[in-house]
Amino acid sequence: MTEKITLLIIEDEEAIRDMLRFSLPEHEFNLIDAEDTSKATKILADNIPDLILLDWMLPGRSGIEFIKWIKQQEILSNIPIIMLTAKAEEENKITGLMTGADDYITKPFSPDELIARIKTVLRRGLLVSPTNEIKVRDITLNVAKHQVQINNDIVALSPIEYRMLYFFMRHPNKTYTRDQLITYIWGGNTYIDDRTVDAQIRRLRNKLSDYQHQNIIKTIRGAGYQLSENDE
Ligand code: CA
Repeated sequence: MTEKITLLIIEDEEAIRDMLRFSLPEHEFNLIDAEDTSKATKILADNIPDLILLDWMLPGRSGIEFIKWIKQQEILSNIPIIMLTAKAEEENKITGLMTGADDYITKPFSPDELIARIKTVLRRGLLVSPTNEIKVRDITLNVAKHQVQINNDIVALSPIEYRMLYFFMRHPNKTYTRDQLITYIWGGNTYIDDRTVDAQIRRLRNKLSDYQHQNIIKTIRGAGYQLSENDE
């Protein structure tokens, strides 16, 4: 028997919270709900959900502002987030994803559609794996322990190096610009320049070079950086 997936839904529309409560299979999901972000913050002090469903338009702090806050919390920053929104504009989708949401679903949606999205996001984050591990080559990152192991060695990483490696391991073989890395790894609220990104990549590469992985994060000229999943 697999463990239940704990979902936190932050949504001010009671009808949607009820719809989820009735339609998500109880043997698979453990649902916690909050009608605004201040209640959600209190819940998150005691619970680490597997995934957050976050409404865009909320009374008080908006969904987008809440994502920025979550991304600054060391313990919470890795929780995948799906945005729920009534706005269908493409522009909002991009803003949502850039801010750190993993996916986006437009209201009205069917429970089946939502469940499919949830599973895709969790699979992508590999959080459904009972070990909470992400593997690329011989590098194993344990999401629950915030720990990186290569062969049997624990690699000592600073929090920012860990987040950087986590980000690249979750999105291998894709190129990210320095601006995107700043948004995804440091969060939108901090002022970081391109040189800081380069310096941080260099530090991470140095640590990985002890394990012959100095080239795993490649510089893509004129574009940015990419982690390559396969040895070349
Ligand atoms: Ca709303």
